[in-house]
Amino acid sequence: MRALAVFPKQREIRVIERPHPARVTGTEVLLRVLEVGVCGTDREIAAFAYGSPPAGSDHLILGHEALAEVVDIGPDVTAVRKGDLVAPTVRRPCPHAACRPCRANRPDFCVTGDYVERGIKGAHGFLQEWVVEDEQHLIRVPRKLADVAVLIEPLTVAAKAEEQAHAIQSGLPWERGRVRTLALGAGPVGLLGALAAAVNQDDTYVYSLQPSTDLRAEITRGFGGTYVSGADVPMAELAQRLGRIDYIFEAVGLSSVGFAALEILGPNGLFVFTGIPELGAPKEIDADRIMRNVVLKNQRILGTVNAGRVGWEDALRDLEQAMFLFPDAVRAIITERRSIDDVPSLLRAKSGIKQVVQLNKE
Ligand SMILES: [Zn+2]
Ligand SMILES: [Zn+2]
Repeated sequence: MRALAVFPKQREIRVIERPHPARVTGTEVLLRVLEVGVCGTDREIAAFAYGSPPAGSDHLILGHEALAEVVDIGPDVTAVRKGDLVAPTVRRPCPHAACRPCRANRPDFCVTGDYVERGIKGAHGFLQEWVVEDEQHLIRVPRKLADVAVLIEPLTVAAKAEEQAHAIQSGLPWERGRVRTLALGAGPVGLLGALAAAVNQDDTYVYSLQPSTDLRAEITRGFGGTYVSGADVPMAELAQRLGRIDYIFEAVGLSSVGFAALEILGPNGLFVFTGIPELGAPKEIDADRIMRNVVLKNQRILGTVNAGRVGWEDALRDLEQAMFLFPDAVRAIITERRSIDDVPSLLRAKSGIKQVVQLNKE
C-alpha cells in the first residue's frame, strides 16, 4: 500500500510502499482511509521546520485530518462496526503518571509535552491507504456528512475554543444576549471559527486581507456573516466599523494583527488565540493600552491548541448543523481534491482554501 512520507534527515518528501497492516486484534480497528486534509502544520513539517518521526524511524507518514471507513474490527471492539465512517483523533496521552490532564484523557492540556500526535509528532499519520487505530480514538461520522467530514479536525480548534469560552462565561451572573463574534483571518481555521459562531447564531464577522469579491467573503456571507476586507477597512478603523465585539477568534498567526485586534475587544469580551506565529525579533505593541483595557473591561485572553474528545463531538455537531443551515458555503471551503501523488507539489504551493487528498478512490 502507498503512503506519503517525510524524511527530515534526507530532506525528502515522497510516496513510499508499506506492507498492508496485519490482522487486527483486541480493540483495534482496520481503517480504509478515504480523505485527508492538508494544512499549514503539514506544510511546516514538509519544510522540515516542525514534527518528528516515530522513535526508531527515519521518516514520518504525514496526515492528521482524516476520514476513514471501518473495514475490520478486533474481537473486543464495541464502539464501531464494519462499514462505519470515522474521523480518528490526533493526540495521544503522555505516559507520565503525574500528568493529570493526560490521565483524565485530556492530552490536549498535557503538561509534560511528551504526548504523541499522529502525523505530526512521534507517530505516523493517516496519509496512507490503510491504517490501524484503537476504537477509543475514533469519532463516528454519519454517512450524510461524508463529503465534508474531513473538516472535523480543523473545526475542533473552534469547538475547543467554544468549550473553553463556555466554561469561562458560564461564571457570568447574567444571561448573555446576542453575541457579536469576529473571526480574524479567513483561512480554513478562521472560516471554521466563523462557521461555529454562525451555527451558534452569533452576529458573525470575518476580517481578512482578501478583497470582498474573494471566495472567502462569499463563504462568510453564505454563513449569514459579514466579511470585512483589510483592503477596504484598515485595522485602526475596524472598531468604528464593527462596534462592540464580544468574542474574537484569532486565526492568522501574526502577533501584530492579534494584538492590534485586542484593542477592539469589548467589555467582558473574550479573545482566543489559535495561530502560532513564527519566532523573530521582538515587536512593538501598545502594552499599556492593552493592559488597561484588559483590567478595566474585565477582558479574558485565552490560548488554545488541539481538542479533547468532547471538542471532536462538538465539531461534528457544529458541522452537522452547518450542513443543514448552509451546505453550499460549507462545501465551498474544500477547494481542491487531489491524489496522493500530487501531495509533494500541494505542500510546496498553497492555493485555494482547503486542499484534500483522496485515497482508495474506486
Ligand atoms: Zn491540520
Ligand atoms: Zn501529559
